[in-house]
Amino acid sequence: MAKYIFVTGGVTSSLGKGIIAASLAKLLQARGLKVTIQKFDPYINVDPGTLNPYEHGECFVTEDGAETDLDLGHYERFLSIFTTQANNVTTGRIYQTVINKEREGAYLGKTVQVIPHITDEIKRRMLLLGQKGDYDIIITEIGGTVGDIESLPFVEAVRQLQWEMPEEDCMVVHLTLIPYLRAAKELKTKPTQHSVKLLSQEGVHPDVIVCRTEESLSQEIRSKIALFCNVKKEAVIEAADASTIYEVPLLMMRERLDLLCLKKFNITNFHEPELTKWKEFLDKLKYPKSKVTIGLIGKYIELQDAYKSILESFVHAGAVNECKVNIVNVHSEFITDENVSEKLGNLDGLLVAPGFGHRGVEGKIIAVKYARQNKLPFFGICLGMQMAVIEFARDVLGLKDAHSTEMNINTPDPVIDLMEGQKQVTAKGGTMRLGSYPCVIKEGSLANEIYRATEINERHRHRWEFNNAYLEQFENAGMIASGKNPESGLVEIIELKNHPFFVGVQYHPELKSTVENPQPVFVHFIKAAREFAEKRNAIKAPVLQGEMI
Ligand code: GLN
Repeated sequence: MAKYIFVTGGVTSSLGKGIIAASLAKLLQARGLKVTIQKFDPYINVDPGTLNPYEHGECFVTEDGAETDLDLGHYERFLSIFTTQANNVTTGRIYQTVINKEREGAYLGKTVQVIPHITDEIKRRMLLLGQKGDYDIIITEIGGTVGDIESLPFVEAVRQLQWEMPEEDCMVVHLTLIPYLRAAKELKTKPTQHSVKLLSQEGVHPDVIVCRTEESLSQEIRSKIALFCNVKKEAVIEAADASTIYEVPLLMMRERLDLLCLKKFNITNFHEPELTKWKEFLDKLKYPKSKVTIGLIGKYIELQDAYKSILESFVHAGAVNECKVNIVNVHSEFITDENVSEKLGNLDGLLVAPGFGHRGVEGKIIAVKYARQNKLPFFGICLGMQMAVIEFARDVLGLKDAHSTEMNINTPDPVIDLMEGQKQVTAKGGTMRLGSYPCVIKEGSLANEIYRATEINERHRHRWEFNNAYLEQFENAGMIASGKNPESGLVEIIELKNHPFFVGVQYHPELKSTVENPQPVFVHFIKAAREFAEKRNAIKAPVLQGEMI
């Protein structure tokens, strides 16, 4: 029988519930327990796949091809586990299931209501992952903030489960904010008191209160929170701001959050946390020996969450290389032939990001050309790879108007074209080529050196592909397809022969990078960038010495 931890949030959004949930899961996993995490989101979209990244950050794709909330990325990066569609449920999905059942006549003439029909469906899904005996502990993060109208049915479902389950099988962790008033030089507990009161009014009493705070909580403040919020003093947990999210499991360990849960669950079969690899990673992250500057070219750069998995993959790859990765965001819409060398001249590597639609693509193509001609390490992901193909077609193959039919349906040279299976698709949600597919790698290629394998699996999210009618022309001119899908022949990886590092991938390697298994293309890209930086510094060095004399 699995045990259940529900994580709710109060006071404000963006407190980092996902990181707290993932950190707790990490500690329990490190103590030898089988743990997974799921997220219940209150919005009415069936999944976040149709959401603009500006609204909700990146869409994280799982192995089984589910388009999910970006917090699932944190779960996978912390725990090195695969999540699935079952790990992310939205209000939209719940209602869709209930309404479909109603249409089938499954409710036998009953009036279909929020309680019990919607809450029953929520509870069914909350318990789903725990039913096969695969896990000891299931952590469920409830999206949104307590008090929101839309999260009410989820909190109600938690109330019912808390009431139905044995006391030692279920617990609620509430994350709140303790603001520091600079003028008064004081931490304030009132918002937390109110948020716990709100939660209690909805019938749920938290077992633990995790307090996000900029300043350390004194014993006095802890006692006050415990008294007013009706929890034991040891159940008031400090979550101080950390320099990196990867530090949070250690902060939670210091506060004994994991032990508190194990005590409540009467679990005694655990060992000291095994975090050797995690701590090694943190050490390398904190004390880098070198530094590189990578340009991230995209059109959503104002919002860091839009490229969350890419940024985290750089953190992992930087640590392996003992190298600090400094990311410079470059808005593709503002790159022109005239300003490209000024904008990209100080970079040690260039990553062209995934994306959709025509906005900003010409700037991306100019950036790729700069990287190709200046032997700057280049890494293109999905749309980024497609841009590299278009640039090569135009500038090297002389196909001046080559394009993707996504941007120009009438191009005479559709070097990137809609996949055959996509031609009849009209609905937007969940209809791309999604999830994990195999890729066979050419022996002796750079991709082969990077992966040290000839068969890999990576995750996808796209509708367009390399047009194989042009492949021979590309390969004869030096751009080779070093990875292909074994069944369809779809080009998964392209690379340039006469370049130190020029790799484009149709898949999303960033979705599989974890702290304990950094993604190999990112690792090699950073290595190439470091070498590029070293060479450049070696050229600069004599000049500097000369100047000093
Ligand atoms: N828009 C492109 C396609 O659908 C690329 C998608 C992406 O970058 N994820 O093929």
